[in-house]
Amino acid sequence: MLTVRPNRAHMALVGALALSAAAVSPARAWGPHAHRIATRIAEERLTPEARAGVRALLRQGDTLVDIANWADHEGHDAVLGSAPWHYVNVPITSARYQPADCPAGACVVEKIKHFRGVLANRRAPKADRARALLFLVHFVEDVHQPLHVGDNGDRGGNLTQIQFRGEGTNLHRLWDSDIVNAVSRDERQWARRIEPLLSPDNVRAWSRGTVEDWTNESLQDAKAAYHFPAGAKDPLPSGTSLENDYVAFAQPVIERRLAQAGVRLANELNALFR
Ligand SMILES: [Zn+2]
Repeated sequence: MLTVRPNRAHMALVGALALSAAAVSPARAWGPHAHRIATRIAEERLTPEARAGVRALLRQGDTLVDIANWADHEGHDAVLGSAPWHYVNVPITSARYQPADCPAGACVVEKIKHFRGVLANRRAPKADRARALLFLVHFVEDVHQPLHVGDNGDRGGNLTQIQFRGEGTNLHRLWDSDIVNAVSRDERQWARRIEPLLSPDNVRAWSRGTVEDWTNESLQDAKAAYHFPAGAKDPLPSGTSLENDYVAFAQPVIERRLAQAGVRLANELNALFR
């Protein structure tokens, strides 16, 4: 019987296929700025114990902000098949997330719980806990992006083409990065805008609730993202042109979601490294 072993040519082919698959598959990720902004908020809220615990797991010299986008880059190569872990498709016609929306547990909701469990297990190998930290940081943020949850049969907005300020994009990318970048590419400026939202009352309110609750919040925000202007009967169709009035609607939502993601990520880490 012929045994096929992976040889160099084979591996090159696999690599090429993986590259072409990456090129055609729609992106599903808060953009790099959004991840860094939310992580910056979280980092400032860590207890000394959490800071030390995180430092012990990261490579020397790395900060949480440095690794916030790992899952969108190296993470896909490190764990093949991890792309669906970044989101969950909940129909925008649903009232709430259901476990059936997460086939085989391969979605952002279950992966947050899974990696939280790995990190909580002090007897797990350090390499496993380090990897769990890389994914957990990123996924707590991804689940707060409304279009990583709400879906209109269009891969979370990836297949809904949008003209934004005269340039072609799609609804998913608009929420991942286009609006964030249109408002400001300066992460410090974003952090300053978000600062007033981090009041004790808000932090207290946001510190309750489960991963499913965070998911349902994103679903509600996604419904609004699709039904614009407010109260529109039908979701945005492909080919819609969106301008500054959409930014005026979306920006406060994004500010709140990044603030919530930052607070909750800090809560997670503070609880895990007590
Ligand atoms: Zn992601």
